[in-house]
Amino acid sequence: MKKLDVIVIGAGAAGLFCAAQAAKRGRSVAVLDHAKRIGGKILMSGGGRCNFTNMYASHENFLCDNPHFTKSALSRYTQWDFIGLVAEYGIAYHEKTLGQLFCDDSAKDILKMLLSECEKAGASVTQQCEILDIEKIDDGFVLNTNQGQYQCESLVVATGGLSIPKLGASPFGYQIAEQFGLKLKPTRAGLVPFTLHELDKKVLAELSGISLDANASCNDTSFNENILFTHRGLSGPAVLQISSFWQPGQTVEFDLFPHGELLAELEKAKENQPDVQLSTALTKHYPKRYVQAVLPYLNIENKPLKQYQGKQLGQVAEAFHHWQLKPNGTEGYRTAEVTLGGVDTDELSSKTMEAKKVKGLYFIGEVMDVTGWLGGYNFQWAWSSGWVAGQVV
Ligand SMILES: Cc1cc2nc3c(=O)[nH]c(=O)nc-3n(C[C@H](O)[C@H](O)[C@H](O)COP(=O)(O)OP(=O)(O)OC[C@H]3O[C@@H](n4cnc5c(N)ncnc54)[C@H](O)[C@@H]3O)c2cc1C
Repeated sequence: MKKLDVIVIGAGAAGLFCAAQAAKRGRSVAVLDHAKRIGGKILMSGGGRCNFTNMYASHENFLCDNPHFTKSALSRYTQWDFIGLVAEYGIAYHEKTLGQLFCDDSAKDILKMLLSECEKAGASVTQQCEILDIEKIDDGFVLNTNQGQYQCESLVVATGGLSIPKLGASPFGYQIAEQFGLKLKPTRAGLVPFTLHELDKKVLAELSGISLDANASCNDTSFNENILFTHRGLSGPAVLQISSFWQPGQTVEFDLFPHGELLAELEKAKENQPDVQLSTALTKHYPKRYVQAVLPYLNIENKPLKQYQGKQLGQVAEAFHHWQLKPNGTEGYRTAEVTLGGVDTDELSSKTMEAKKVKGLYFIGEVMDVTGWLGGYNFQWAWSSGWVAGQVV
C-alpha cells in the first residue's frame, strides 16, 4: 500500500496544476491517470498552440448554475498569475484576438511546463493507472488500482468532461460524485458545431469552407465572430460559442451583416448602378459562391436593383440581418470542446473546491458544472480551481 497525503485522479490541465501546488507546500502527491498519453487535450488545444488563458477572463465568461461560484477562485489565481508563470518559463505567446493568448510555438510548451512544475515540487505522475474502486476511511481514502493499493488523506477528482473520448475522457468523476451522494447537473456537449436538417444541409453543405462575419444569438446571448460552413453543418467561433447556450429544438438567429445597415448599402447601390443585379451588388459584401446559393435558399428573387420597389429591398436586407436557423443537433462529444453540466457546485466550497458533505474530497476543472466560453477560459478555470484546491489539500 502506497500512503500519500494527496492523490489526484486525472493528469490533465487542472490535475497537474493542482498537484504541483500541493507538492510545493510539502505534501506528498501522486497523480494517477488511466490514459497511455497524458495531457492529450492540452496538446490538441488551440489548434496545437493552446489558448492557455484570456486577458479579460472574469466570472461573466462562464456558464454555471450558480453564477457567483467561480468568482472566488478566479480572483485568487488570475489569468495574470498564469501569464506570469508562462513568462517565467520563457514560453513565447501572443494575443490572437479578443484577449485570447496562444503559444507562439506549440502547446507542448504548456504541458512540459506543467510536468516540470510537478517534477520540481516532487509530485509523481503515473499513467495507465485504472482506478478500480474508492473506499472512504476515517482519515481519508483507499484506492484499489491495477497498479496496487493507494491511501491518501485528500482525494482530488480532476477527470474532466466527456468530450473527445479517444483522448481518455470518461464519466468516472461523475460516478465518484454519485458514490459519495453528490448531486450532478445534466451533461451535454458544448462549444460544438451544429448539424443541419436535410433541407438546409442540401444547400449549405455546398458552401463548405466559406466563413462569414456574423452575430449569432439564442436565449438572450449573442456572439459576434466568424461562422464557418462545413460539409457536416455549421461551425466557426460564433457557432461554437452559441452552441453552449442553445437547447435542442430552438432557433438560432444570425445577423450576417453585423457591422452596418445592409439596406443602406443596397439603396446606395441601386442609386449608383440601377441596372446591376442584386447578386452582383451583394458580392461586394459576401463571397460570390455564397450569394449564388443563398438567394434561392432565402426565397429572394434576383433581378436588377431598379426593379425592387417599395419595401422589397428592406425585406432582402432583413433576410440577411435576421437569418433564422433551426439546427438539427450538434456533433456531440466526438468533437465538442467541453462538457456542460457536471458536479453541482452547490455541493462544493467555492473557496477550496472541497465537497461540503465529504471531508477530503475535492473536484476541480471541467468535471464540475463550470464551463467557459471559447477563448482560453476553460483552461483558466482549470488553473484557478486547481490552484485553490492545491493550497488546502
Ligand atoms: C479539441 C479541444 C481544444 C480545446 N482548446 C482549448 C483552448 O484552446 N483553450 C481552452 O481554454 N480550452 C480548450 N479546450 C478545453 C480544455 O481542454 C478543457 O476544458 C480542459 O482540458 C479541462 O481540464 P481538466 O483538467 O478538467 O480535464 P482534462 O484536461 O480533460 O483532463 C482529464 C484527465 O483525466 C483523465 N481521466 C479521465 N477519466 C479517468 C479515469 N477513469 N481514471 C483516471 N484518469 C482519468 C484523462 O485521461 C485526462 O488526462 C479544448 C478542448 C478540446 C477537446
